[in-house]
Amino acid sequence: MHRKFLFIVGGVMSGVGKGTSAAALGLTLKAKGYRVTAIKVDPYVNVDAGTMNPVEHGEVFVTKDGDETDQDIGTYERFLGVDIGKANYMTTGRVYRSVIERERNLEYGGKCVEVVPHVPEEVITRIKTAAEEADAEITLVEVGGTVGEYQNLLFLEAARMMHVDTPDDVGFALVSYLPVPPSIGEMKTKPTQYAVRTLNGTGIQPDFVICRSTLELDQPRKEKISRFCSVAWNHVISAPDAKSIYHIPELFEQQQLAELVLKHFGLSPRQNDLSEWRAFTNKITEAKTSVKIGVIGKYFSTGKFVLSDAYLSVLEAIKHAAAYQGVKPEIHWLNAETYEEKPEQVSELSAYDGILIPGGFGSRGIEGKIKAIQYVREQQIPYFGLCYGMQCVVIEYARNVLGWSDAHTQEIDAQTAHPVIHLMEGQETVIRDKTYGGTMRLGEYACAVTPGTVAHTAYGAERVMERHRHRYEFNNAYWAELESAGLVVSGVNPEKNLVEMVEIQNHPFFIGVQFHPEFLSRPLRPHPLFMKFLEVAAKRHR
Ligand code: GLN
Repeated sequence: MHRKFLFIVGGVMSGVGKGTSAAALGLTLKAKGYRVTAIKVDPYVNVDAGTMNPVEHGEVFVTKDGDETDQDIGTYERFLGVDIGKANYMTTGRVYRSVIERERNLEYGGKCVEVVPHVPEEVITRIKTAAEEADAEITLVEVGGTVGEYQNLLFLEAARMMHVDTPDDVGFALVSYLPVPPSIGEMKTKPTQYAVRTLNGTGIQPDFVICRSTLELDQPRKEKISRFCSVAWNHVISAPDAKSIYHIPELFEQQQLAELVLKHFGLSPRQNDLSEWRAFTNKITEAKTSVKIGVIGKYFSTGKFVLSDAYLSVLEAIKHAAAYQGVKPEIHWLNAETYEEKPEQVSELSAYDGILIPGGFGSRGIEGKIKAIQYVREQQIPYFGLCYGMQCVVIEYARNVLGWSDAHTQEIDAQTAHPVIHLMEGQETVIRDKTYGGTMRLGEYACAVTPGTVAHTAYGAERVMERHRHRYEFNNAYWAELESAGLVVSGVNPEKNLVEMVEIQNHPFFIGVQFHPEFLSRPLRPHPLFMKFLEVAAKRHR
């Protein structure tokens, strides 16, 4: 079998939606009966995304096999409906590390190891391995960054080399941005023309240009890009801002993008079935009542701008469940630090139908989160805590119900007399030796769900698998006292007896989970806990 590879590169600026375009195209190719996988190449020297601040880089997505990756891997999983593993993610750091390790092991047979060709060759090997592991007929390879940067040159060089070796099996799509400056009122194609020239300078000619913009691309501009960039006019795809990213596959279908990609590779559709997907997007369109959800976090602001990328999967998980509950989520970002500066402001939370506290690290904002949790617990406001959001539940309960005012997580206060959240076994050496990268409890683990709990009703299962990313955990020394004070342990890891879920009774919904359920939620398979949370929030709204 000749596996096919479509490289997706970005032009003009970052953040235009290469990942979503790749994922949406992947879905439509899959709907035509092909086995598809997607790879993300990140130009960073970081070995993985786990050591990057989410404000700078967006969410750290955790794979089933425990890799800490770019958020685009999450987008691929959601659109393609498959689990994507480590092999599908690489960074400059990861690539260089294996080249250097191989050199140390004498695997280059005494040769002088060079940036070119050895680094691009390592990239090619990784791309092919990922395609083979997924047994993909078509592999989409998204190259991070923008053409013209120094950073991603070696990856473009790898793509060029693959194209030279097997021209019929390798194609290129440029995802570009077409501004519509308000002062001019017209969509401008010039930056895209420059981006194509820059790409040409690396020896690559795009076969497709996907034109992101606020507006639809019209025929004259399609033709202009076609003529100036040497791309067939019907390969110039209009990709205006959509109502929801989940409508993009349908937008591509209208322009027959997947069919054209197949044709480019000498293939033709085997079937055409987007019906399940369309049923989901119809649900989004049909939902009318809005439900107001507050997400309390701290990774939002950069300068004067507010970003939500740090919590991308949380946002998507809420959207999926909301669509199935027939409601439109209105999500508000609430800064945890506000409740530290002005504790009385927690009363604003009563205007929400549900409050969620996602994962987090460090001391900034934690006291604000704990104050908010006390408020929603006492005021019967639906609450869902993820990871740090669960750990804060335990701290709050210990402080305000058991009266241990110094109760804390050892992450913040290593000396507390009540470390209700403590460092996991085996993590001491990590802290001592500062071997932080990739050493948290990562990836998928089992959780036994306690019968009779709200969690059990939501899951409808005794045993579930969920993804983790943490170094601290519930301290079992306090289990009995916390339970007798009313904090119900609703999920436990059977191998290590770790508390994975807690909840309280006599409350509409108050659950904290040590794992990250958001990573498993998909448009066609909303997560049971998010479903329950949205169901209860919708009820409160009514
Ligand atoms: N900081 C906490 C820990 O390391 C929680 C991590 C998270 O929320 N992902 O255990």
